[in-house]
Formats: sequence, structure tokens, C-alpha cells
Amino acid sequence: MRKKFYQDGIRFECQRSSTCCKSGHIEGYVYLSLEDRRQIANHLGISTIGFTKRYNAKTRKKYHLKQTKHDCPFLKNNHCSIYKVRPMQCRTWPFWPENMKKYTWRKDVKKECPGVGKGKLYTIDEIKKILKSQILAKRKKLTTLIKTIKKTNI
Ligand code: SF4
Repeated sequence: MRKKFYQDGIRFECQRSSTCCKSGHIEGYVYLSLEDRRQIANHLGISTIGFTKRYNAKTRKKYHLKQTKHDCPFLKNNHCSIYKVRPMQCRTWPFWPENMKKYTWRKDVKKECPGVGKGKLYTIDEIKKILKSQILAKRKKLTTLIKTIKKTNI
């Protein structure tokens, strides 16, 4: 089998540059699962519905944070004000399935993120675990969607 480019691990430590919290970021939107919305709402002391109405927008049937002047609404003084409960998309950066291609990593991720190559060494197993958590979350969402469709008999 072909060796992964991250076979020997990758160093990463967030440098709090907030680059990934501003528009122009590869992904564009910060997408939110129900769990993300519940956690942040709880942290803010508001209901999940209230949080969704106030801070969320929907694009292609997926909830994401509304941007303020193209930045994340929780970016305050260049820092994430909900860092402890930040969404999975933010927690798992830069180890996203779509980033884990040698070319994308070198061309986009490394260039954009000053945390790459610094700090903690993430082993291949740790990276795989982070990737798996995202795939499982997507699968769970898909299963819920299928159940809803079956229930509503669409
Ligand atoms: S939730 Fe926090 S880490 Fe995520 S984009 Fe917003 S400010 Fe950045």
C-alpha cells in the first residue's frame, strides 16, 4: 500500500492567527451539527432554537454560522470567544479528510495556516482518529436524515 504523506506524523499547534475564522478560508462557512449547536447554545445560556435563529443560516440544507462582515461572529479581538465549545469543524482543523492529500496540504493548508509544522507531533494514528470522528459524524447525520425521510414517507 502507498505510504501516506503523514506517515511519520505532522506537527500542528494553533498559533491563534484566526486566519481560519475569517472569510477567504478554504471552506468558507463553519458548518454546525445539532450537537455543535446544542453545545454552543448551552455555553451561551440560550436555547438551541434561539441560538439557531440568531447565529445560523442554511446553505444547501446545511446549518452554518452567519458571518459578520465576513468573519465568524464569535471571533472577538482576534480570538475565538467560544473556544472550549467550538464546532467540530474548528476543532478538527487542519486534519479534514479533504485536506489530507499531499498536494492540497502543501498548496493550501500549509500556506494558509501558520500552525502547521509547529508544536505537538500528531502521529498517523491520532490523525486517523480525528479523520474517523468526522466521517462517523457525517454518517450519523446521514442515518438521521434517512430515518426522517422514512418517517415522513417522502
Ligand atoms: S467558532 Fe471560533 S474557532 Fe470556529 S471559526 Fe468561529 S471564532 Fe474561529
